[in-house]
Amino acid sequence: MTVTTETTSLLSVRDLGKSFPGRRGRTGRRGAPVRAVDGVSFDVAAGESLGLVGESGCGKSTTGRLIVRLLEPTAGSVHFDGSDVSHLSASGMRPLRRHVQMVFQDPHSSLNPRQTVARVIADPLLVQGWGRTEARQRAAELMELVGLIPEHLDRYPHEFSGGQAQRIGIARSLATSPRLLVADEPVSALDVSVQAQIVNLMERLRRELGLAYVFIAHDLSVVKRVCDRVAVMYLGRIVEIGDKRAVYGSPLHPYTRALLSAVPLPDPVAERRRERITLAGDPPSPAAPPPGCTFHPRCPKAQAICRGERPLLRIGGPGERREVACHFPGD
Ligand code: SF4
Repeated sequence: MTVTTETTSLLSVRDLGKSFPGRRGRTGRRGAPVRAVDGVSFDVAAGESLGLVGESGCGKSTTGRLIVRLLEPTAGSVHFDGSDVSHLSASGMRPLRRHVQMVFQDPHSSLNPRQTVARVIADPLLVQGWGRTEARQRAAELMELVGLIPEHLDRYPHEFSGGQAQRIGIARSLATSPRLLVADEPVSALDVSVQAQIVNLMERLRRELGLAYVFIAHDLSVVKRVCDRVAVMYLGRIVEIGDKRAVYGSPLHPYTRALLSAVPLPDPVAERRRERITLAGDPPSPAAPPPGCTFHPRCPKAQAICRGERPLLRIGGPGERREVACHFPGD
């Protein structure tokens, strides 16, 4: 079961999976396949922002790349605006590329250093068949929209700071007037002082343009600011998903609680008093996930059933609009 938004979904992800071939050992035999994403389902309504959070290697970035089809799913489906786009050919994907765009983590490495900013931003429009003059005019408008000076269109990416380069990346992602942005750690490569500016910009753009976001981040305080709902991933699966206020206010999954206990609180007194939950060890390898609940080797609440029986994602409780995958949700 999946808690869906009340409005019709713009994006609908069902049982999405991605396995990579296992590494070859010394004998030349391949190890077990690595299930980077395993049975992930969620919906995003038009204008809604869903955060995907979790430790490094939990599958959140792979999920983002599956949505924009930078990777081919090995299971499940992705529907955009009611159409199944999971297995479209490159030419079949072209209309979708107009509506779904990606913002990358490292702005400088995602911009072609040999192209002027005008060309970088206009490129998606030229692919869509726009003329050069119209595309340049649109690039100038987009520079202004993201807080850059349109007269700098003929500069090259290395002439801009990291924050400015990310603004250029965002401008390019907006060129075709998309309805959904998949933002993969869009501020984590930036200085802390610049992060807030980019987060503010993304919030403003969402409001003004009615964009939907899948916002991928390991920083839960950033997700709290930008997102309406949040999905917590562990070892390729969603372990808790629901409205931001509910998940941040009273997390039901022990993993969510541990992640949130590490988020700094603005009030220094509350920060000193609060209890930090430290998880034992690192996440296990997705090539050899533990049986039962994959979180059990690190879970402070684990009991016998957790080692043998995998908990399914279920409604968290009466009246809840969220789901949790735990045999013992709540405190
Ligand atoms: Fe912990 Fe058991 Fe819940 Fe898994 S199912 S999170 S091991 S309590």
